[in-house]
Amino acid sequence: MYFNSKNNFYHGIMFHQFHDNNFHKKSDGSIDKDDFYKIIKYIGRENILNADDFFNRFRQNKLDSKKVCFTFDDSIKCQYDIALPILEEFKIKSFFFIYTSIIEGEPDLLEVYRYFRFNYFKNINYFYDEFYKNLDKNLTEFFKKNEQIIKEKKLKFPFYSIEDIKFRLVRDELLNSEEYKSVMSKMFESKNFIPKDKYKNLFLNSEHLIELKKLGHLIGLHSHTHPMSLEKLTLDQQLNEYEKNINILSSILKINKNEIKFMSHPCGSYDSNTLKILNNLGIELGFKQLMTVEPEKGMKKINNSFLEIARQDHSQIMNMINK
Ligand SMILES: [Zn+2]
Repeated sequence: MYFNSKNNFYHGIMFHQFHDNNFHKKSDGSIDKDDFYKIIKYIGRENILNADDFFNRFRQNKLDSKKVCFTFDDSIKCQYDIALPILEEFKIKSFFFIYTSIIEGEPDLLEVYRYFRFNYFKNINYFYDEFYKNLDKNLTEFFKKNEQIIKEKKLKFPFYSIEDIKFRLVRDELLNSEEYKSVMSKMFESKNFIPKDKYKNLFLNSEHLIELKKLGHLIGLHSHTHPMSLEKLTLDQQLNEYEKNINILSSILKINKNEIKFMSHPCGSYDSNTLKILNNLGIELGFKQLMTVEPEKGMKKINNSFLEIARQDHSQIMNMINK
């Protein structure tokens, strides 16, 4: 039984990585098609609403507490290859939140980096070791200083290992994005890895988006470049992220901008400026990446506002199933 005292409110289910035995290798938190079947069964098909139904009931304030919808972030092809056929089998129409720089051939290298981490090293810890070797930083001191934060993050994101959390902290807090990029490109070179060769298999293109829409899935915003920390951008930069995103998506889908009314926050990152921007763009439903209240973001309760609807991570559900 999926629903319990901790998730007794409507929310989204957040899917990211899927793996198969072909191109899409197993990576941290990824699930395969059997896991996906299990998740649908565990939640109960009757509790999973189609995206448009979820949205309409939400709008009319008629959404029951034990209802969820499925959401897919990050414009990644593994979702199309592995999850979509099963969605179609069960006729579960879902939200796909798309960041658009990839459509213009300039992905946030996030997925490329992930692909590299999981395909070019014996296991993830070998990658972390080599990554740290390429840094000119005192990591012992950094980890010591962040001991408490690491503990807190482990509680907040139990599906990450301590090593995963440390790496993310180094990547997101210790390094600036240029430093991170330069270390990664050094590592790419040492392994003769050419990212562009992989784009076709890693990312969705315009045709995929048109196909998803035709099938009845809803396409929503996820920023243009998928910044790690959108809230650190200025108001103008944030506005640019979402305006570009909505312009490109509406033009690909040949719809009016105001028909796109849904979004999810990339990396769960937003501030009050972001919410204003989204509101002005006519967004009526926005998803977070958490099932808990973040007081530091001014949240007073779960599903705090129409732009702060909770989501459960798929790997969290796998943990519940495997308990
Ligand atoms: Zn994302």
